[in-house]
Amino acid sequence: MLIGVLSVQGSFAEHIKVLDNMRIRHVQLRNFHDLSYIIDGLILPGGESTVQGKLIKESGMLSHLRRQINDGLPVLATCAGMILLAKDISNDEKPHLATLPIKVRRNGFGRQIESFYTEEDFEGLGTLPMTFIRAPYVEKVYKDIKVLATVKDRIVAVRYKNQIALSFHPELNDDYRIHGMFIDMAQKRKNQVQSLIAAASLLTSENLQI
Ligand code: GLN
Repeated sequence: MLIGVLSVQGSFAEHIKVLDNMRIRHVQLRNFHDLSYIIDGLILPGGESTVQGKLIKESGMLSHLRRQINDGLPVLATCAGMILLAKDISNDEKPHLATLPIKVRRNGFGRQIESFYTEEDFEGLGTLPMTFIRAPYVEKVYKDIKVLATVKDRIVAVRYKNQIALSFHPELNDDYRIHGMFIDMAQKRKNQVQSLIAAASLLTSENLQI
């Protein structure tokens, strides 16, 4: 199991610490060459989405990451990461990876409460600690989006197929349930890929015998 952590800007070190504590192998994705690693899951950390978007574009990583996500690579995106994934951003010029059918509002919780902590219910995991830092919220969900959590009547966590996006920062609290859920997705995906490879090589060896 190998998890790629986008490490161009933002809170990637905190996610790496969580993975270390969970004894999960990881690789930092800083430039195009790092994409030669075969990863089973991808973490997009918080930070500044405009900076991250610019850096992944300039480094040539954008289209490669987009293709991998569209092909089913499990993704855990937090805060700025959610903005990177969103198909639409209501208060920004253009989307970045645009693989997740939601519309987000950057810095959506307003000035007075730009940063706050709360504990709320998260679908399937129970009550979770949630730290919000100049967080976006999901303004609109499109087809097949599953809402996983709401805070102050705003959608703050969604799932769409292989993509999980959160407005808050689970890596800042000592509660690894969300990372655990993501690692389960990555393990399932790894098993699927391995059985496909095994089936393909069986087919090839059968063909060779003919
Ligand atoms: N406000 C940041 C943005 O718009 C996101 C903040 C965060 O990731 N903590 O990109």
